Amino acid sequence: MVKPLTAAEVTDRIAGLHRVAKNLWWTWNQEAQDVFQQLSPRSWRNLYHNAVAILHEVSDYELRIRLQDPAFAASVQEVIDRFDHYMGLKETWGAERLPHLADRPVAYFSAEFGFHETLPIAAGGLGMLAGDHAKSASDLGLGFVGVSLFYREGYFMQAINQDNWQTEYYTQLNPRNLPLDPVLDGRGEPFVGSVPMATGQVYFKAWRVNVGRIPVYLLDANLPQNEDHFRDLTLRVYGGDNSTRIMQEILLGVGGVRLLRQLGVSPSVFHLNEGHAAFLTLELIREKIAAGQSFEAAMQATKTECIFTTHTPVEAGHDRFSSELVEYVGHKYARRLGIDHETLMNLGRIKAGDEAESFCMTVLALRLARHANGVSELHGQVSRKIWQPLYPDRQEAEVPIGHVTNGVHLLGWMKGPVRSFWKGRLGEDWAYEVNEPGFWERMLDPEFISDEEIWALRYRLRRQLLEFTRRRITLQGHNLTGDDYIAFDHLLNNDALTIGFARRFATYKRAPLVFQQYEAIVELMKDRERPIQFIFAGKAHPRDDEGKKFIQQIINYSKSSELTGHVVLIENYDMHVARQMVAGCDVWLNNPRRPLEASGTSGQKTSLHGCLNLSILDGWWREGYDGNNGFAVGEDAHPDSVEEQDQTDGENLYRVLTEEVVPEFFNRDSAGIPRQWIQRIRRAMATLPAKYSTWRMVQEYADKYYRQLN
Ligand SMILES: *Cc1c(COP(=O)(O)O)cnc(C)c1O
Repeated sequence: MVKPLTAAEVTDRIAGLHRVAKNLWWTWNQEAQDVFQQLSPRSWRNLYHNAVAILHEVSDYELRIRLQDPAFAASVQEVIDRFDHYMGLKETWGAERLPHLADRPVAYFSAEFGFHETLPIAAGGLGMLAGDHAKSASDLGLGFVGVSLFYREGYFMQAINQDNWQTEYYTQLNPRNLPLDPVLDGRGEPFVGSVPMATGQVYFKAWRVNVGRIPVYLLDANLPQNEDHFRDLTLRVYGGDNSTRIMQEILLGVGGVRLLRQLGVSPSVFHLNEGHAAFLTLELIREKIAAGQSFEAAMQATKTECIFTTHTPVEAGHDRFSSELVEYVGHKYARRLGIDHETLMNLGRIKAGDEAESFCMTVLALRLARHANGVSELHGQVSRKIWQPLYPDRQEAEVPIGHVTNGVHLLGWMKGPVRSFWKGRLGEDWAYEVNEPGFWERMLDPEFISDEEIWALRYRLRRQLLEFTRRRITLQGHNLTGDDYIAFDHLLNNDALTIGFARRFATYKRAPLVFQQYEAIVELMKDRERPIQFIFAGKAHPRDDEGKKFIQQIINYSKSSELTGHVVLIENYDMHVARQMVAGCDVWLNNPRRPLEASGTSGQKTSLHGCLNLSILDGWWREGYDGNNGFAVGEDAHPDSVEEQDQTDGENLYRVLTEEVVPEFFNRDSAGIPRQWIQRIRRAMATLPAKYSTWRMVQEYADKYYRQLN
């Protein structure tokens, strides 16, 4: 007989569950998710995997009763113990290598963070990267704080209307149902700060999100003392016009520094994740001037504190503000720095005094950072070329922009069946090793795992994705009118080569490229012996009509009589959809216009599941591809002409599909196993996950850029 818990023990476990729910640690720990799911499987789905909301949904009375089930109580206890152990761990990589960060952390500023589908305050890859960076900084035990904005309507939700056109709608996030705690001031009252803006002041409060051991602070302008248009500064991710944008960025940068000072945090490094955060440098300069330094000295001193990561060579990714806008919104900043408007403008111009030049946030960041980097080797090169004019006395190769190739947080993206596989093989503590290259090299060993087992795992993952997709397509409705309903029975084939494409529908990513050879691809897809299917997902920016046309085009295909059932688009792409897709697809398609995909990260989420990349040699794949661990489209070079590039990439893509991908996938031996394909999976799993993880990436940032100066 197991002794039932005493009332005091029950109270203790309930407090423990609340503690766990309020820390995003649970989002990368399967056992913790299992506990919340078991509390109410239906609510788990309906509330979209929200641990805090589940604990509101299940009454305290029910919780007490449920904890009388010894098996459930034991799994709760185990999760709480693991969590407390994680939080208390003293011997970490960070504590050993960069102990000074414990008191003087890295402050990482980012306009978006992708932590989990229930907190949708990211628009795409930039935010995912920031979220994964924070999770790995926590795992590594680095002294680190994040700063961003709390957008109360988050990023938009996508619906497709009768014209197959994307429409946007918004829902309000409820902080009470999220792992957010209000930041309090010294007297225990909600903290309120302010920043000067245009003719007034913008007041802000802040929320704290716990990401494992790391706090991330989200500034929120939704306060009654603000004028309405100021309250809406934190309404939506990248919402509004350029004047909203510059004010959001002042709030993020200047407000963020002020918040940290109020909290007594004195960072040793400010990491500007993309140019959006660059106004923080103005506040750092102002502080030094207030302490008696000259503008020039304050600028130089600020420069020693900041590092900057640029994330895209795409022009629209670099915010530019007109002189009038900077003057209207920011005139108080020039005054506070003791400089005139033109001197302020020159901080954001390549050529000082050039009145034709607007104010560019990337230029400000480059001027005021001691180190700058791109996010892959090629992107480093491209960035040196783009920004060379800012360094007129240097050759392109000497432009001080390096690179750190992006990665992903492995445990956060790993799907259940792969976790159970490792647990079955290596026991309970498998997850502690997951970031070591040696962990993955086992996949090359047929004694460790047979071809048959790999193939079985792939079938399981594909089936999970297809069942998920069918459910989502049913709910979407737009595929289910009239005759389409019959087609639904035939929607997707469990044995077909399943190719995924999911990311923002920015035009340079060329979502419909594979349809360039339309007749040929239709024929290829409909081959009865060797069927292929495509699953697409992704949002176009609300003002990007070209991107919306791409979506429309793909939905048109999905409804055309030739392709129904072979092509689908899952609406409302987010982290949950991403997690299903990167695990279940056989092939992950990536065909950006080179060299515009600075790194790309979605392909890095796939190899740990045995899904193979089929990609242009751009960004990370140019480094990751070794000839045997996936497929390359085209060469390590590209023509200057965009038209020519689109043409040849479309042709090459079709050729690799027909000559390499399809034959290898369907070439089965007498036991029905595609040996060559599985060999490629082994190589992908052995060579890619550890190298393209944020565990490796954050260590690289730490060793190169977060180290103590002097
Ligand atoms: C990984 C991810 C991205 C980034 O995808 P790329 O292919 O790198 O552009 C964007 N959105 C979501 C939801 C993701 O999970």
